[in-house]
Amino acid sequence: MFDTIIIGAGFAGAVLAERLATQRQQRVLVIDKRQHIGGNCYDCFDQHGVLIHQYGPHLFHTDNKQVFDYLSQFTEWRPYQHEVLAFIDGQKVPVPFNLNSLHSLLPKSLADSLELKLIDRFGYGVKVPILELRKINDKELKFLADFIYEKIFVNYTAKQWGKKPEDISAEVTGRVPVHISRDNRYFQDKYQAIPAQGYTKVFQNMLDHPHISVMLNTDFKDVFKLDLETGRMQFMQSEFTGQFIFTGLIDELFASRFGELPYRSLAFKFEHLSSQQFQEKTTVNYPNDYDFTRITEFKHISQQVTPGTTIVREFPQDFERDNPSRNIPYYPVFTDENKQKLDRYLAFAEQFENITLVGRLAENRYYDMDDIVARALHVFDARFASPG
Ligand code: FAD
Ligand code: UDP
Repeated sequence: MFDTIIIGAGFAGAVLAERLATQRQQRVLVIDKRQHIGGNCYDCFDQHGVLIHQYGPHLFHTDNKQVFDYLSQFTEWRPYQHEVLAFIDGQKVPVPFNLNSLHSLLPKSLADSLELKLIDRFGYGVKVPILELRKINDKELKFLADFIYEKIFVNYTAKQWGKKPEDISAEVTGRVPVHISRDNRYFQDKYQAIPAQGYTKVFQNMLDHPHISVMLNTDFKDVFKLDLETGRMQFMQSEFTGQFIFTGLIDELFASRFGELPYRSLAFKFEHLSSQQFQEKTTVNYPNDYDFTRITEFKHISQQVTPGTTIVREFPQDFERDNPSRNIPYYPVFTDENKQKLDRYLAFAEQFENITLVGRLAENRYYDMDDIVARALHVFDARFASPG
């Protein structure tokens, strides 16, 4: 029946399904255990008519023209530049921490002197990861680095990951580097925009092809079997000899044979308020207060005009496979120990010629949306583009 079976209807699965159907005329089946397509990028209208992101705020940004052009086949865009504030010492200041944050939080003479030092040392416009800034051997800059580390990073990271910044990959806090600039935007990428009709519509357009079938509410383990000794695959009791693309948890596919990989989950608490607006910007981070990390107000993203407003608070928690309130793995946990385990899985996966692992969970990488679209396009070119 099908040339390729894909597990997961997020961007990894949807890009590959679209490419295989339109460029290779393959018959593709996409299976997802959720009741909708879109993976974590899924958005929908809540009962008050506000367009919400079910799995946390998703802001598209990229410098990759190929990715932007590719997605533009499936959507129009509305320009949107993301800004985030952090609640620090009773004030809301821009994050990533920048020169405006510096002047808001420190006395003028000290802030002036630190600004000059930062520009002198690194140059205007440069981004410096906090863990790098902390290594600088200069008394005043060391004071600033410790200040930013304490006020912005240490407690937020403890909530988000249950760890200190230095105990997870430097890539994680490096996503939000100190920015020696007065640019308050969260991202500086060339293309920053929101799909005009939301993300789910993009997925609908990508998967709307006569050769693509979608099976929702289905855990792959209930319909698909992989014999780890022989590599033989079965779909609905029949042998399956086509290609299998997997975008779920790599350890789940391989029956946790090298042990389970840890992930972080989130509890999203949505609230609808009767006021027009709740906060100044889309997202406000709370590094040092409360149990949640951040509050997002969706109307800033959708730019809708509605009488009330909907917000969401994010409460980080450990992922637990058998606990329905904790069983969505949003983030792989990026530590050296987990990387070693992951490498064993990735090496094991190589023996299965007809199996391709791609996606944030399948590859255990901190992919943003543009990264995973780029990755899926690359995988298509490398593995599936030519008939041979
Ligand atoms: P997913 O979207 O997770 O899709 C995987 C799919 O596989 C899911 O639908 C899942 O249900 C399915 N699946 C898993 N296991 C099984 C199974 N056993 N059987 C059947 N189906 C299964 N990126 C940005 O660029 N900008 C942002 O602002 C941004 N914000 C984010 C905020 C949060 C809170 C999170 C968690 C992520 C954010 N991202 C953002 C990242 C973005 O969500 C990912 O890059 C993207 O979703 C990765 O796509 P994917 O296809 O790899 O994974
Ligand atoms: N971070 C922080 N304080 C902040 C914002 C981010 O400590 O105010 C750290 C934290 O460790 C977080 C990481 O930087 O997990 C990456 O932040 P990002 O906003 O990219 O996280 P995501 O949107 O992927 O959850």
